[in-house]
Amino acid sequence: MNSSLAKALFESGARLRNPSLFRQYESFKDTEWWNLPALEQLQLERTRKLLKYAAESSPFFKRRFKASGFDVEKLSSLSDLKVIEPVSKSDLIQFNSEIHTGMERAKCRLAETSGTSGEALAFLRNEEWDSANRALMMRSYDWYGVKPWDPNGYLWGYNTRYLDSKKTQLLDKLQNRFRIFRYSEEEIRSFAKKLNGASFISGYSSMIYEVAKALIELDLEPLPLRMVKGTSEMILDAYQPSAEQAFGGRIISEYGAAESGLIAFECPRGSMHVNVENVVLEVDENGDLLVTNLSSFSFPIIRYRLGDCVSLSHSECGCGRKHMVIKDIAGRRGATVFGHSQTYPALTFYYVFKNLALKKDILLNYKASQSEQGCVDIYIEGESNRRHIEDVKSELYKYFGKDIVFNIKFLRQFSVETKKTQYFETTI
Ligand SMILES: [Zn+2]
Repeated sequence: MNSSLAKALFESGARLRNPSLFRQYESFKDTEWWNLPALEQLQLERTRKLLKYAAESSPFFKRRFKASGFDVEKLSSLSDLKVIEPVSKSDLIQFNSEIHTGMERAKCRLAETSGTSGEALAFLRNEEWDSANRALMMRSYDWYGVKPWDPNGYLWGYNTRYLDSKKTQLLDKLQNRFRIFRYSEEEIRSFAKKLNGASFISGYSSMIYEVAKALIELDLEPLPLRMVKGTSEMILDAYQPSAEQAFGGRIISEYGAAESGLIAFECPRGSMHVNVENVVLEVDENGDLLVTNLSSFSFPIIRYRLGDCVSLSHSECGCGRKHMVIKDIAGRRGATVFGHSQTYPALTFYYVFKNLALKKDILLNYKASQSEQGCVDIYIEGESNRRHIEDVKSELYKYFGKDIVFNIKFLRQFSVETKKTQYFETTI
């Protein structure tokens, strides 16, 4: 697709779905080079606005603020937030309807996530919230000379031949992107051919790595791209040499989650700059990250414990931006699942359960655990249910075939300890 057509399609889509997108993008561009005190002032003002709204419209936060002795009228600095008890993923699930502010449904979009810790969650996301994420992403893409409508390769969810691919094909076309559906030599070759005219590639870093390795093994020419973006998982150092060899650049990272929105993006100097205009980050005494999303009016995300340990820094970055930097993120890794004859990215489990949620409306909390090659235990929270076993098994089969034997076990309730662990644990 030629670039002016792609841009026009993107813009008309945005007018329908995200009317505030370009206005927000302009405003984030305006604040991009602000100094720290100005950014912090803006952050404080926006925090006040969100918390005020939450205190008035969210029964859950009304109660929680009261119980913490927090008075939004007296908020004078972000450190005042400390008295509010943090919110966990279980809270978001258990108190889901009371957290919602009753914002008109027509103005929101339903977000569903099984989350990296395997717990299922659904909530309404208001237009400004959704658009802020997209606008911040556009600002970050600018750092690499990339526009979202540029031709791009997509490694987000390789899917199976059972995929309802008409809709996917249309969405891909509208976003000028193409993807891999299977890791066959033929598919990787055709993907590589398309990448030749692409500006960037994005997706789960373990998948980017798998494709990079395959391209190298096939002895294909390096594909110079402007940006190689890994997301949702920690990018292991071991991935980088292959990425550089195959794509001519390191995998840069993006950090965020469905509930928190886009938190940070890596600049060309290698710093993970926090989108301070739209999120407030705090680190508690255990090193756990707490996120407040300043656009989350439909379902306030306030002092939300995302489940990652991070360290923050105000040290100067060579790029000149004054936005705070995330130093280390511990807690998410792209692990490998070992079958009898092949390996698979751990995120495959995420897709299995996401597909169940999207296609069959089955929301399950799960944990997968492997201690032996070709064999994986799947724990599901709740009462044993034969229909769910069948559905989980058939979904697993689509990805793993007969290469892995699964033992599906039901646990009435996951322990607090289990909830803290990753959705996939391995001792191999
Ligand atoms: Zn920087």
